Formats: sequence, structure tokens, C-alpha cells
Amino acid sequence: MKFNKKTVEDIEVKGKKVLVRCDFNVPLKDGEITDTNRLSGAMPTINYLVKKGAKVILCSHLGKPSGEAKPELSLAPVAKKLSEMLGEVVVFAADPNVVSDKVRLAVSEMQNGDIILLENTRYRKEETKNSENFSKELASLADIFVNDAFGTAHRAHCSTVGVTQFLETSVCGYLIQKELKFLGEAVENPVRPFVAILGGAKVTDKIDVIANLLEKVDTLIIGGGMAYTFLKAGGYSIGSSLVEEDKVEYAKDMMQRAQAKGVKFLLPVDHIVADKFSADAEPVVTENQNIPDGYMGLDIGPKTAAMYSAAISIGKTIIWNGPMGVFEFANFAKGTIAVAKAMSDVDGTTVIGGGDSAAAVNQLGFGDKMTHISTGGGASLEFLEGKLLPGIEALTDK
Ligand code: AMP
Repeated sequence: MKFNKKTVEDIEVKGKKVLVRCDFNVPLKDGEITDTNRLSGAMPTINYLVKKGAKVILCSHLGKPSGEAKPELSLAPVAKKLSEMLGEVVVFAADPNVVSDKVRLAVSEMQNGDIILLENTRYRKEETKNSENFSKELASLADIFVNDAFGTAHRAHCSTVGVTQFLETSVCGYLIQKELKFLGEAVENPVRPFVAILGGAKVTDKIDVIANLLEKVDTLIIGGGMAYTFLKAGGYSIGSSLVEEDKVEYAKDMMQRAQAKGVKFLLPVDHIVADKFSADAEPVVTENQNIPDGYMGLDIGPKTAAMYSAAISIGKTIIWNGPMGVFEFANFAKGTIAVAKAMSDVDGTTVIGGGDSAAAVNQLGFGDKMTHISTGGGASLEFLEGKLLPGIEALTDK
């Protein structure tokens, strides 16, 4: 995909009211933000706009309030944290209606370089329906729209897509640019060997990713719960492991396609299994691919971890989405740790799709060793599926 959208650097923002859609969908515990990664991700765009003398109006969703003003999902803690992180006052427009006469008045009184944060856009039921009225209300606050919320770029909502229909200029911010640079270059123009590692619970969630990446990679590595459907398709016994019977044929097709294309398709050659799905289950290493009755595969085995690490180590571009096992249980996290470690030693570009693999990499302490960790789980998956993201498509062409 050629990137041909305007960015914040392509436009004049001084004195302009700029509505910036950020991804402030942060984890909260007892009203406190427990992970500020997404706020840090938004800093470059906000800082740039402030420095250039724009009037910066920030907006985002938080959680799923389903069209109701749920106080526990207010963006108030985000305004406070952002003020601290930016060293600038972020005025919180605490209006459950998100846009109102009161908010319009506050915006009209803004000076260049001022920052206002609107309330959770999903307090409005129209937001996720991409309704015209709320899109127009949002647009009425601003002269220019900036989308910097990669995490919701795969959703056509009022604050990501609808609003662009009522403003002449809509551009992307630095975070979206960075995401597209790393994900885009990895997929479209990889330095080879290009290795993709896919794991996680279900084949269903990754069907289109597998199909799309098979056309591009040199090696495709499969782990996690989805591996057992492939092993079953290969005729191995899988005990009581996770399996999607209705995807066994698909799995066979994919393996045949890989063979026809000369793509190395790696499946586990041993496993760590247990007789129950539990953190305190006794881990047992299997001899080979087969899993005895009464046992379920909860992680790749040591031979597989070594084989996968070796395949990763010769890669020059590596993309990873989905853990190799139930990494949340310490006894079954070894495979995921081995892959994270192998990636962190690679002399090349390493990209982590968002969601669980990003959480795993950060949680296991390998975060700063990767070239790029995507901030968008669903969005990065759709990107890897080869889909166009509506929040990016809606922006103004160069
Ligand atoms: P996903 O959201 O599809 O990336 O899946 C991530 C989830 O898959 C994590 O919560 C893992 O615990 C789970 N998972 C990984 N491997 C297995 C497995 N062998 N059996 C059951 N769940 C697994």
C-alpha cells in the first residue's frame, strides 16, 4: 500500500482549531491509569501542534460505555495525567454530551497553544454508528481534523471517519505515520528472509492474516492454541487441546498452499501439556507432535522453541502476532518467552502486532528490544490481513 495521505506537517495549523482523535483507551484501576503507553504515543503530535500555535482539541473513546455517560469511564483521569506528562494545562471539557454550547464557548475562548480534552466520545450512542449528527457536532468545533488513533483506525465511527466528511482538511498524526511506516514497510517491502510468527487462541481470528502473509513471507511459524487445528489437519493426535473442527480443511489448504509457494511452514514438534487448564497444572513435555488422550497442549515444547528461535534468528524482518502458549500461566510461558528472546536478538526489523503479543512482550521485559510494538490490536491485525483501514482511508490525499 502506498501511503499518500497528508500529515500534520503538510498543513498550516497556526491559530487553527484542530480536533485530534487520539487513542486514550487506557487501562484503569480504581480511577488510576495503570499503563501510560498510549498517552506517550500521542505526545509527539500534541507537542507539535502546541509548538506550532494550534488550538488543540483532543478527543478519544475509553472502554465501552455503550452510549451512556458512565462516570467510571470518564476521560477526567486522562486529562490530569496528560497535563503532568505534557507540562501544559489540559482543560477537561467535562460534558457528558461531549459537544455542547458550553464546550463550544470554551473552544471559542481558546488561545493559540491551548489544549482542551473532550469527554469520552462513546458516551454518545451515535459514535459507533458513524451517525451524521454527532459527526457534524464534532466537526463544528474545528477547522482541521487530525487522526492519530491507530488503535481505532479499523473502525468507521463519528470521531474517526464521519467527522472527516464535514471538514475540508483531515490529516494523520505522527503515531499513525509511525505505525504505517513499520507495519507497511515490513509487509510490503521486507528485507528478506521475512518471517511471520502467528499464535494466539483461534485460527478463526487469523484466517485472513494467514492467507495474506502466505503470499509475502519466506517462513510462517504457527504456535499457540491455533497450532492444534493444523496438527490435526496433518494427522497428529492432539488430545483435548483447543481445536476448531470446522477449520481443519482450511488448515490443510493453507499448508498445501505454503508448500506450493515454497514457504517454510513451521508447526510445533513437541509440546508442554497438562491435564487441566489451570495455572497450577503440572507441565509435561511430550516426546513429539502427538498429544496423549486426557492432555491438552498449553505451550510449545523445548525442541519447538529451539527450532522456532533458530528460524527467527536468520530473519531480517520479523512480524509477530499472538502468544505461543498460555503465557499468563508461568508454567506455560516458556515458548512465548523464547520467541520474544529470539526476536530481541535479531539483527533486523522486529515488529509486534498489538493486543496480547504486545502485552506479553512488555510484561516479559522485552519491550524496548523491538523495533516497533503496534498500539493497535485489531487495527494491526486488519492491516496484516491486507485490508484498508477506514480511519486512514478517510484522510485527505496528498
Ligand atoms: P489471541 O487473542 O487470539 O492472540 O489469543 C491470546 C490468548 O490465547 C491468550 O490469552 C493465551 O492464553 C491463549 N492461548 C495461547 N495458547 C493457547 C493454548 N495452547 N490453549 C489455550 N489458549 C491458548
